Amino acid sequence: MILFDVHAHMDFPVFADDLDVVLCDCGEEGVTVIVANGVNPESNRKTVALAKKYSLIKPALGYYPTHVWEDGLEAVRKELFWIERQRPVALGEIGLDYKECETESQKEMQRIIFKEFIALGKRLRVPLIIHSRKAEADVLAILEEEEAEKVILHCFMGKKKLVERARDLGYSFSIPVSVTKLDQLQWLVRHVPLRQLLTETDAPYLGPVRGERNTPANVRRSVERIASLVEMTVEDVANQLFMNYQRLF
Ligand SMILES: [Zn+2]
Repeated sequence: MILFDVHAHMDFPVFADDLDVVLCDCGEEGVTVIVANGVNPESNRKTVALAKKYSLIKPALGYYPTHVWEDGLEAVRKELFWIERQRPVALGEIGLDYKECETESQKEMQRIIFKEFIALGKRLRVPLIIHSRKAEADVLAILEEEEAEKVILHCFMGKKKLVERARDLGYSFSIPVSVTKLDQLQWLVRHVPLRQLLTETDAPYLGPVRGERNTPANVRRSVERIASLVEMTVEDVANQLFMNYQRLF
């Protein structure tokens, strides 16, 4: 069975001591691809270095939305210029996060950069791996307006209406391990065609056990849960999901 994870953070310090062991476990579980997502300049460089060292890791490069207004437009644009020359397999982690925003200008800065990443995605013809928190409606409006291509909504927790809108626009959803527990994600799996689903972990976050480090090996749990939700065999679901991955990347 071929498994994959389109959204993990393998450069984070919590993996620094035993990354070889973690990746070995992933391989044994059947994970063949981990798309590691960078979140800022330092994290992007580490992610590129990891991808050079480990064949399992593919680099997605981006700028985490809250870092965008912390670092300012000039710094982010400099990074965009660098990212374009790296030829990443995807752009991520990018998107909008209004949770911590106190001013309208912080939100506006995120929207400006989000649009620039969408344009870059078209130039590079790579998928966009998108974070959205307390900003789901704006994320979808901008993606539609900018005619974004190859959209992957990571851990999308928007309202049912927004899920349906994204589904009808043909966007893909990457499903985290919490699908084993959360009704909202289980509803999503049942209401979006299987060909628009992918698997992710957001490792080291969003683990099956609260407070414990998550790893890409846990995608197996999601595939099993998805299979029971759509009433198909685990093997058939894994194959379909991997075809989805190949179509996008
Ligand atoms: Zn993430």
